[in-house]
Amino acid sequence: MSRYRPVKERISDFAPVELRLPAEEMAEELTHCQDCGVPFCHGMGCPLQNIIPEINIAALAGHWPAALALLLSTNPFPELTARICPALCEGSCVQALNTKPVPFRLVEWEVIEQGFDLGLMTPNPPSPHLPLRRSGLKAAIIGSGPAGLAAAWALNQGGITVTVYEKDAQAGGFLRYGIPDFKLEKQVLDRRIRLLEAEGIKFEYNVQAGVDISARLLRQRYDILVLAAGARKKRDLTVSGRELAGIHFATDYLSAQNRLLAGELAGLPPEYNARNRRVVVIGGGDTGSDCVGTAWRQGARAVYQFEIMPQPPSNRSANNLWPEWPRILRTSSSHEEGGVRRWNIDTSEFLPAASDKTRLGALNCTEVEWHMENGRLSQPKAKKNSKFIQEADMALLALGFSGVEENPLLTALGIPIEPTGRIPRDQRGRVSDKIYACGDAAMGASLAVRAIADGLAVAGTVLSDCREQTDPASLLHLPEICASGAAEQ
Ligand SMILES: Cc1cc2nc3c(=O)[nH]c(=O)nc-3n(C[C@H](O)[C@H](O)[C@H](O)COP(=O)(O)OP(=O)(O)OC[C@H]3O[C@@H](n4cnc5c(N)ncnc54)[C@H](O)[C@@H]3O)c2cc1C
Repeated sequence: MSRYRPVKERISDFAPVELRLPAEEMAEELTHCQDCGVPFCHGMGCPLQNIIPEINIAALAGHWPAALALLLSTNPFPELTARICPALCEGSCVQALNTKPVPFRLVEWEVIEQGFDLGLMTPNPPSPHLPLRRSGLKAAIIGSGPAGLAAAWALNQGGITVTVYEKDAQAGGFLRYGIPDFKLEKQVLDRRIRLLEAEGIKFEYNVQAGVDISARLLRQRYDILVLAAGARKKRDLTVSGRELAGIHFATDYLSAQNRLLAGELAGLPPEYNARNRRVVVIGGGDTGSDCVGTAWRQGARAVYQFEIMPQPPSNRSANNLWPEWPRILRTSSSHEEGGVRRWNIDTSEFLPAASDKTRLGALNCTEVEWHMENGRLSQPKAKKNSKFIQEADMALLALGFSGVEENPLLTALGIPIEPTGRIPRDQRGRVSDKIYACGDAAMGASLAVRAIADGLAVAGTVLSDCREQTDPASLLHLPEICASGAAEQ
């Protein structure tokens, strides 16, 4: 269904691997949408509640402006989700019961790019005309990942003057410095940031809130603070040999490559270059898969991806029925580019190279077995006689994130981090008086689409709180897109 550039061609560059569907194929796919009476794709699948059947109908008829208006009524940044969302909606598509789902992610992609192509995506700033007008209230958003951008967009639309503080050199969070360009080309992100700027949002880069601007100053300058700093505390693998050169966190590695492509680095630091190296990626998720694709493009000699969990089934298991998200084996475009994927592998030691005792030379690994105990997976047990040595010059740790990083801003604001690694907040996103939190920082590491939905929901809470607390004539407008104001816990 999806179309990709040929492997041989694409691994020699970092340009996007996926292509838009040709018009006839798109039309054919759209004819399969059944416009279900109860559209699970919309109600259960999509965290943004995209009005999928109606968008499909408008797209099939070629009514792009109508399809675009429907899409933008729930999703402020469809060009981002269209490229990187795992498409939770497709897992609950009725068509997926018997055949394949309607490829809504690709439909979304087509609709938003038609919108840009037709010149329909112009800045929409709060105008001097009611109801979109400035209220005089000011908000600072800490962090410019998808959650911070969504909150900034909605608050700005609501009439609040917004400044986004970002400690990195450019906006986007993990969308810019984590996800590789071959999945999300950064011009797409830049195009969106230009729109947000033209709508009146101010971005302050290279400013770490709590360090470069104090919590006190932020409180003085702004009526509202929204914490959208992400969940970036990396999980480590603290086994013997961890100190050896050649072992890196996946996000440091991916970030270096993305910064190089963005012109932020003059050259790739040699430690992050996989050229001619045997690379082992530890961790079987999306971040690991992004490392696989990046390593091939850098010219790796061999790439392995080891996951400690068992291999997922090819089809839904009995306890994972439609319309739930199918927990099945997924093969990404990076996996199709080559390498060895193994499951049930535990790494117990990093071993030095014979030629240089300070560098990684191999991994000591064991196959593990899992058993079900009371309906849950037990602790893994080493399989008899399964020890093996995997030679490697580079190991990339893609083991996920345990929560929010220690942060001087949180300390100064007196906000503790929960044992779960999250910023504590109530069900509507309130942390304390005039302070709110959204995205991964409050939910735990998740997906961009959830971060966007949460940013919108929390902006809804901010706007409704401000409306209650200020003069009713304060000109605050509650955009319908975030009217629910219910943040996830
Ligand atoms: C390698 C990788 C691949 C991924 N692939 C996908 C994918 O394909 N699809 C998908 O849906 N999701 C993917 N994700 C997950 C997704 O990127 C995150 O869930 C999402 O970015 C979270 O958004 P956020 O805004 O909450 O936080 P983040 O994106 O983490 O952004 C937080 C921002 O806050 C800034 N910040 C932190 N502290 C401060 C401070 N004190 N002052 C100023 N700025 C600060 C950070 O620099 C950062 O820019 C991936 C994640 C990674 C790491």
